[in-house]
Amino acid sequence: MLETEYKVDEMKIAEYFPMANTISKMLQIYETIFTLKFVEISKNDKLYNTWHEEVKQFAVWKLDNQEDPEFVGYIYFDLHPRKGKYGHAANFGLSPGYTDIVTGARVYPATSLVCNFTRDKKDKPSLLKHDEVVTFFHELGHGIHDLLGKTKYSRFSGTSVSWDFVEMPSQFLEYFTWCEAQLESLSQHYQTGKPLPKELIQSLIKSKNVNGAMFNLRQLHFGLFDMSLHTSKDGNVDIDSLWNDLREEVALVSNGGVQTKGYGSFGHMMGGYASGYYGYMWSQVFAADIFYSKFKADPLNVKSGLEYRDKILSRGGSREEMDNLRDLLGRDPNSDAFLTELGITEAS
Ligand SMILES: [Zn+2]
Repeated sequence: MLETEYKVDEMKIAEYFPMANTISKMLQIYETIFTLKFVEISKNDKLYNTWHEEVKQFAVWKLDNQEDPEFVGYIYFDLHPRKGKYGHAANFGLSPGYTDIVTGARVYPATSLVCNFTRDKKDKPSLLKHDEVVTFFHELGHGIHDLLGKTKYSRFSGTSVSWDFVEMPSQFLEYFTWCEAQLESLSQHYQTGKPLPKELIQSLIKSKNVNGAMFNLRQLHFGLFDMSLHTSKDGNVDIDSLWNDLREEVALVSNGGVQTKGYGSFGHMMGGYASGYYGYMWSQVFAADIFYSKFKADPLNVKSGLEYRDKILSRGGSREEMDNLRDLLGRDPNSDAFLTELGITEAS
C-alpha cells in the first residue's frame, strides 16, 4: 500500500541514509538545538574505555559559553550485531549524573546506544531504512535525556522520571525525522551524494500516519488491557475474554468468534511496564503539544531547544513533570496537537 498508493519505496529511500553519515548528521541536529558538541574519543586515547573494540565513545560538551565549554558526560554507540549481544535497538544508561554530597563535585553520567545495524560492505555502506533512522533518533533522545540530567541526586537524573513520562523526550524528537528540512539535511545518497529529492520527502511525510488510527487504537487496547489486569480488585480475571473483548471493542479487530491469546507475546505487561504501558500514548500527547507549539514552525530554533533542554531534560524527575510542562508551555498541556497530528481535528 505504501509503495503503490504513497510512492514510498523504503529500499530506495534507504540509499540516502548511509549509516555513518546519517548518524553524524543526527548528532549535528542535537548539537544545534541543545548547543552541544560530540567529540569522538579515538582508540589510542587513554580516555577510550569500552566493552568491545567496535564500540564508539563520544565525550559530550555543552557550548553555552564557547570560551568555557562544560563537560556533560560520555555516550557510547555499540552499533553492530555480534554473538550474544542484545538483539534490538535500545538505550541503556550506564551510570547517572549527580553531585557528590561529600566533595560537592559533579559526577558525570554515561549512557549507551545499542543497535544492530549491518556492517558496511566493500561496495555498499550500511544503509538505514527510514524507520531505523526514526528509531535511532528516538533512542538517542533517551541517551541525551540521560546525559543532560543535572540533578543533585542520581535518583532523579535524566530518564529517572515518572514511568509515564519516560517516552516523552524520545517521541518528541522523532518529529524531527519527519520534517522536510531535516530529512533533506540528514540524507545523502551513498553514490551520488545528493539529498533525498523533494518529491520523495513529500511522499514519505504524507505516509507518516497511514493506518495511524489502527496503530493508536491498538496502543489503546494494549494500554487498557495492561491497566485492567493490574488494577483488578480480586485478581479473578478471565484473561482471554478481557484481551479479546477489548480487542474487538477498542482496536476494532474482529475475533471471528475465536478467542486468541495475543497477550502471550505482550512482554511489556510483565517486563517492567506493568500497568504503565499507557505511558507511550500518554507521553505522545505531551510530545505532540511541545513540538507543535515550540518547534513545528522552526524545528532548529535554538531558543526553544535550550528552553526545552533546561526545563524538561535537565530537571529529570526532580520536580513534578506536569509543573515542568506548564513552565515550558506557559499553560496546561492539552491533546489538541496530538489530535491534529492524527488528522482527527483541524489545526486551530
Ligand atoms: Zn523509547
